[in-house]
Order: sequence, then structure tokens, then C-alpha cells
Amino acid sequence: MSADKLSKVEKLYEGKAKVLYQSTDPSLLITFFKDDATAFNGQKKGSIGEKGVCNNSISSNIFMMLEAHGIKTHFVSKLSEREMVVKKVTIIPIEVVVRNKVAGSLAKRMGAPTGKELPEPLVELYYKDDSLGDPMINRGHAKAFNLATDQELEHIETEALKINKLLVEFFKGIGLDLVDYKLEFGRSPEGVLLADEISPDGCRLWDINSGEILDKDRFRKDLGKLTETYQEVNRRVSSMVK
Ligand code: ADP
Ligand code: MG
Repeated sequence: MSADKLSKVEKLYEGKAKVLYQSTDPSLLITFFKDDATAFNGQKKGSIGEKGVCNNSISSNIFMMLEAHGIKTHFVSKLSEREMVVKKVTIIPIEVVVRNKVAGSLAKRMGAPTGKELPEPLVELYYKDDSLGDPMINRGHAKAFNLATDQELEHIETEALKINKLLVEFFKGIGLDLVDYKLEFGRSPEGVLLADEISPDGCRLWDINSGEILDKDRFRKDLGKLTETYQEVNRRVSSMVK
């Protein structure tokens, strides 16, 4: 069945930023990107006008760029302004965080200054469980609690570093410093795929020239210009791929 003839069959899950629908093709889902924004494990809630439209467009373009460079992702097609067709996967419940510079919880944990360059990209694992506040784990925990196999963990970390090289270069080309970001992977019949989304919701992006924050930290820190920020990132990402 071709992806452009797909339609929604039933709602499977509503998350904080997206709604997942089963599509008419059993192996494909339709994700709907909402404007809802949350921070601090759901304690802060709000809405950012046009965020869903921007994140769908940004994520679609980034998945296409990664696919063109040999990364296997769940992306199939952009269906509409707010909808993306993706391959159905079983999400591995590990949030993979890749860091190029110190920021956020790493600054706190290590007592290091925000913005300090790391000698090499740092990959961190977090157990994806909102009720526990997504605690940081290591490979031992992931194995002991059957979150992923050794082979999957090896693949995920190698893939995350490959993805990092591509993303750092891509964002540099549009004047953005990719400080850190979160990735999710899922199991599918064709192996482990990069899933979920790549957008300013899950990335720290700083303007290379001005140092201006162009990501969800503007929402966390009440810095204003929220819609404008997502639109600006979308504008730059689109300019690179069209
Ligand atoms: P959350 O509140 O858990 O962050 P989101 O609103 O961001 O949720 O997204 C909805 C859920 O969809 C997430 O839990 C994510 O892991 C899951 N997901 C993303 N891509 C896929 C996919 N291809 N197949 C199945 N689930 C997916
Ligand atoms: Mg999410």
C-alpha cells in the first residue's frame, strides 16, 4: 500500500507531544504532532503555537537527511502539515542522550560550566519511564533489567555517534551549534531503527554567531519568542534541504 493513501484507523497512544495512530497498513503508524509543551517531567505545561507544524517539518527533513547518509530510521513520509507516516516499532525504553558541550543536568551533576566543550561526544543512557523521572542508567542496568541486549546496546551507541557526526555538520551548516539531544530507537522486522522525533523539543541548539538559545530551553526558562524560535529553526532546516 503506498504511504500517501494511508488513513488513521485508531488512536493507539497519546503522549506529551504527539498522538500515535494505527494506519490502514498494519506495519505503519501515523504520528500527529501537537502544540503541547511540557518540561521538568511534566510539571510545567503549556502550548507553543505552530510547534507541531514546525517539529513535523524539522523531523521529516532531518530523518530524510540521515536516511540519505545510510542511517536506518522509522521515517516513511510526511503526510500533512502535522502528520508523519512511520514504521511501527517497539520502542526500546532507553533515552539515548548525546552531548557535545556541557549543559543542563550534566552541568549540575559534574559541577561544570555550561558551554564547556567536551573532548569527545558523550553518550548517556536514561531509563524511559516518566513515573521514575527518566533516571540515568548504564549498560549494566539496561542488561540487568532486560531493557536491551548487549548487541542492541552496542548498535545503538555506535549508531548514535554516527548520527552525531551527521547532525553536528548539518546544524553547523545552518549556523546552529548542536549542544546535546535525545534519541529513541525501536525494534522492527528490519532491525533496530532510529525512531521518535528530532526537533528543538529534544535538542539544545545555540546560534553559532549570537549564542542565542533556539530550542525548548526558551520554554523551560520563560525566555519568550517561542513560536518564532521553532519557526526560525524550521526555516533554516528547510533552506538546507530544498
Ligand atoms: P512521550 O510523552 O512519551 O514523550 P510523545 O508524545 O513524544 O510521547 O510520542 C509518543 C510516543 O511514541 C513516545 O513514547 C515514543 O516513544 C513513541 N514512538 C515514536 N516513534 C514510534 C514508532 N515508530 N513506533 C511506535 N512508537 C513510537
Ligand atoms: Mg516525547
